[in-house]
Amino acid sequence: MSQLQQLRQICEAYGAQLVAVSKTKSIEQIMPLYKEGQRIFGENRVQELIEKVPAMPSDIDWHLIGHLQTNKVKQVLPLVSTIHAVDSIKLLREIEEQAAKLNKSIKVLLQMHIAQEETKFGLSMLELTELLDVFQQGKFSFVQIIGVMGMATNTDNQDQVRKEFKHLKDVFTYIKNGYFIHQPSFKEISMGMSGDYQIALEEGSTMIRVGSLLFE
Ligand SMILES: *Cc1c(COP(=O)(O)O)cnc(C)c1O
Repeated sequence: MSQLQQLRQICEAYGAQLVAVSKTKSIEQIMPLYKEGQRIFGENRVQELIEKVPAMPSDIDWHLIGHLQTNKVKQVLPLVSTIHAVDSIKLLREIEEQAAKLNKSIKVLLQMHIAQEETKFGLSMLELTELLDVFQQGKFSFVQIIGVMGMATNTDNQDQVRKEFKHLKDVFTYIKNGYFIHQPSFKEISMGMSGDYQIALEEGSTMIRVGSLLFE
């Protein structure tokens, strides 16, 4: 069985979705995954999305998984269904504004800072509550917040990684209960990559973002 089929089976067992991360890979490398049935693909760079989307079949569900700059929102929106790494009110507002112009509803996840490393993007708890308060009071008709996303520390220490994923799950539950209790669409926890997807699934991930493992 191919690596893709194995991962898809594991995801199915956990009721999770597989986002196949195709960043840095060529169309020739990605197409075999499509032919095996994969339809959700993730990219982390706007330029790569712009090049790949028109070159690939049109029934692919593209997700932007990486950090997004406000000035790139306009280019990205027509290409994707889902943005995984929203980490500021400014970005959320720009997505709403551009989505309104396109009359397109767009799914977003809030990226939380869960790792020990300083370098990773993501909201603190304080920034998160500020953002959610703005969201509740504002007129957001096109942006749909469907969940949270996080990246664990890049370490061999599995206990550390598990602790961080547990924390993200707790944050998800906190947001769900406080803000989206009556919204079934708020249900996603995007966590887990090639090195830590198994732990992520055990801790409640609903979307794993796996790249390198699929292209070995
Ligand atoms: C590259 C990337 C992934 C996938 O990482 P792999 O280790 O190649 O599986 C997942 N999420 C984000 C945000 C990425 O940039």
